[in-house]
Amino acid sequence: MDKVMLYSNQLWFDRAKLSIPGGVNSPVRAFGSVGGTPRIMTSASGPHITDADGREYVDLIASWGPAILGHAHPGVVQAVRDAAARGLSFGASTPGETELAELVRERVSVGSVAPIEKLRLVSTGTEATMTAIRLARGFTGRELLVKFAGHYHGHSDALLAEAGSGLLTLSLPGSAGVTAATAAQTIVLPYNDLEAVDALFEERGDEIAAIIVEAAPANMGVVPPDAGFNAALAKLASAHGALLIVDEVLTGFRVGPAGWWGLEASGTVANGAGWTPDIVTYGKVIGGGLPLAALGGRADVMDYLAPLGPVYQAGTLSGNPVAMAAGLANLKLLQEPGFFPNLLKRTEQLTLGMQMAAKAAGISFSSANLTGMFGFFFAPSCARNFSEAGLADIERFKRFFHACLKRGVYFAPSAYEAGFISGAHSESVVGETLAVVHEAMQEC
Ligand code: PMP
Repeated sequence: MDKVMLYSNQLWFDRAKLSIPGGVNSPVRAFGSVGGTPRIMTSASGPHITDADGREYVDLIASWGPAILGHAHPGVVQAVRDAAARGLSFGASTPGETELAELVRERVSVGSVAPIEKLRLVSTGTEATMTAIRLARGFTGRELLVKFAGHYHGHSDALLAEAGSGLLTLSLPGSAGVTAATAAQTIVLPYNDLEAVDALFEERGDEIAAIIVEAAPANMGVVPPDAGFNAALAKLASAHGALLIVDEVLTGFRVGPAGWWGLEASGTVANGAGWTPDIVTYGKVIGGGLPLAALGGRADVMDYLAPLGPVYQAGTLSGNPVAMAAGLANLKLLQEPGFFPNLLKRTEQLTLGMQMAAKAAGISFSSANLTGMFGFFFAPSCARNFSEAGLADIERFKRFFHACLKRGVYFAPSAYEAGFISGAHSESVVGETLAVVHEAMQEC
């Protein structure tokens, strides 16, 4: 601990900048949009995270999603220790891969509908979505891809147009280095605008390989789909011989056992039932904090992947045995009775409390919950799409963020990223958080 204390956040960040571009390995960590010194984290346990100054925070980022059981859950840590002792990586198939694929197939089902017939394991969400679009193009023999403004699907070239998350935080319309030819094959439409999708399919339906959509978007703030929007996309894609890729990297195993699709299919979310995705992508919770992601879906589509089919995909560390152990332990622990209802209760406690604190301070505020995730806007109502997301008061967000941080509550350092609650965020931890939020609302 003494050694850590010698290096403060500021010293570590200054030192990092000398050998790492911008001092970070993922842009949002640099605090560019909120200003100030990024926190350099040294350990985390349950709902708390500790920085290089030795300061502890209530963590509302949860590693951007994976830590749904809280940090360093003993059951997951033990599984990782046991697996590591058996060997870190074999570059060959292992039983854990099949066990995980079977578990996902079974978990992502509602009644007799089980859309994940086969699953391919990769290491990051970016790899999963990148592979999914290559697979859709290979399967359909078409090139055009449809995505929605403000949706983020990782950083592969085809998916960086008008993306949410870090690009939105940095106000970047796309990325340098993406060729014009690649960008021209991605058509970006406004979200929750079925007419725009209809019109495009009317005109170019036979050129479209796939629509990719965040199941319930959370990279431009949390912006749930209008009732029936996903079902309408599925219908339209199918009518035109295109595939629907549903990105559940954030929502999979976090908003419910079968992800957002499960909430719609079971009728928990109104007017959503009666559709199935062709391909679904997973990341974050599936790996419990280790690099693990996946794409799964219709067997005839998935079998188009090598070695059975002509669409190539591979990975030295794909299906890594230690990641399998973490993912399996994490997913099994989520099945404890009452886990998701309790998660929702804590998220509602937090966002309702935030609303009350904002009201007491006379501030315009709105929030949205997705079980273990939440988003908020300093605006009178939640956004329905990318352009509405841009109307919130970003300056107030920055003041709020810092007012919370200095009091020991760590929200995402971006107005457009979601917040995350874990099973370790007890009623009293959320209560302490709200006391801080109340003061911060008064100050911001
Ligand atoms: N899809 C979605 C919906 C995401 O939110 C993210 C990352 N936040 C990704 C894909 C990319 O995942 P990764 O960062 O693991 O590459």
